[in-house]
Amino acid sequence: MDVINWAGNHTITADRLVEARSVEEARAVVASSRHVRALGTRHAFNDLPDTAGTLVSVTGIAADPVLDEDARTVTVGGGTRYGDLAAWLDARGWALHNLGSLPHISVAGATATGTHGSGDANGSLSTAVRGLELVGPGGDLRTIAADDPELAGSVVALGALGVVTRVTLAVEPTFAVRQDSYRDLPWDAFLEDVPAVTGAGYSVSVFTDWAADRIEQVWVKRRVTALLDRGARDPGAADAASEDAPDLLGVRPSGVARPLIVPSDEVNTTVHLTPGPWNARLPHFRFDATPSVGDEIQSEYFVDRADAVPALRAVRALADRIAPVLAITELRTVAADDLWLSMAAGRDSLAIHFTWHRDAAAVAAVLPLVEAALEPFGARPHWGKVHLFDAARLAPLYPRFDDARELLARRDPDGVFRNAATERLLGQL
Ligand SMILES: Cc1cc2nc3c(=O)[nH]c(=O)nc-3n(C[C@H](O)[C@H](O)[C@H](O)COP(=O)(O)OP(=O)(O)OC[C@H]3O[C@@H](n4cnc5c(N)ncnc54)[C@H](O)[C@@H]3O)c2cc1C
Repeated sequence: MDVINWAGNHTITADRLVEARSVEEARAVVASSRHVRALGTRHAFNDLPDTAGTLVSVTGIAADPVLDEDARTVTVGGGTRYGDLAAWLDARGWALHNLGSLPHISVAGATATGTHGSGDANGSLSTAVRGLELVGPGGDLRTIAADDPELAGSVVALGALGVVTRVTLAVEPTFAVRQDSYRDLPWDAFLEDVPAVTGAGYSVSVFTDWAADRIEQVWVKRRVTALLDRGARDPGAADAASEDAPDLLGVRPSGVARPLIVPSDEVNTTVHLTPGPWNARLPHFRFDATPSVGDEIQSEYFVDRADAVPALRAVRALADRIAPVLAITELRTVAADDLWLSMAAGRDSLAIHFTWHRDAAAVAAVLPLVEAALEPFGARPHWGKVHLFDAARLAPLYPRFDDARELLARRDPDGVFRNAATERLLGQL
């Protein structure tokens, strides 16, 4: 097949790709396939979505959002991109608690891998899931409600439970966000008080190349709810109401942000300084632009926030080895959750992310060093990014690993939704 992932570092090996136009069509495809998996918006950097049989995409099925203001939930088609859902919600006065760096990613695909934004108190995007509708083996349509004990094992399920057709997400009243950039924060000051930085706003991202003695920049996204009535969507009114941002460990905000990876990022990144709606500020990249150039590979590892300082020191000691392959690192925080296969399961986490240049061989050479440095901290790799872990290494890191394996084996006894990646990562089910 000539289908590749977003980054262009994995070519799909499936026999065929079916773009379902309805839930009924998705059910028929699953019912007639010995091996089948869901493909979302293709943003995973590895072979996780692939299958030896048929790929089915539900991104072409109407989003058809249904808002329940009393329950504070929205139910939406699984293939819907976050950016589309967010605009729909904001127009009605509602918001999601957080977004990833990119709003172009599908809801079902993102939540299936524990995709996250940042914020000490913000759980991953998967933690907003309050219910799922999915096509199971044989084409059966099944719903998993909020009170179903299986939900915690079914959200971050790596596509191994079936094709998610509808997702119910928690919503809250809409809010405005202002983002400020701080440049050249001394590494030593950061290591002396990591929580002062990661807790400086609702969502904080620290960007570094590890090499210099100063951190390149920190983006702090603060909620400014008071602006909403005055028209956060009206830049003039919002500007007039904005207050100067406070210092960050003695560093003044720098005005505009530096481009993240390439100069063209400047037009792709979301607006700084001027407050605006949550969905136009929480992601780093604008929904109406193509982020970066796709010429990259990403890896990311989650450690307990209590281990932040030694873990950061361990990676920093590799700065010289990392530098030739690295475009940029981003450090974010994610609140602990109780989802069985979530990278933040049971621990408030620091997520250490690497955007590598798209040189698979060079990335493969540097990953063993990074993973060895983070091994003492029980680092968990992002399911959707490039890493070297297998089931033997993953099992001790997840207290509910065996429960997840039992659930996936019971719900899909014939392995219709399993593939080489799930066998490698979860073992033979
Ligand atoms: C530029 C870029 C920026 C990113 N930023 C972030 C970020 O800020 N935070 C973060 O945590 N991650 C980030 N990621 C990683 C990304 O969020 C995950 O890889 C996510 O899983 C991709 O979702 P997708 O819809 O593209 O799924 P795909 O890549 O198509 O598939 C990923 C997995 O989801 C499953 N899946 C997809 N659709 C369904 C469905 N309908 N039902 C069941 N399973 C399904 C697939 O089977 C597969 O296992 C980024 C990736 C890129 C390329």
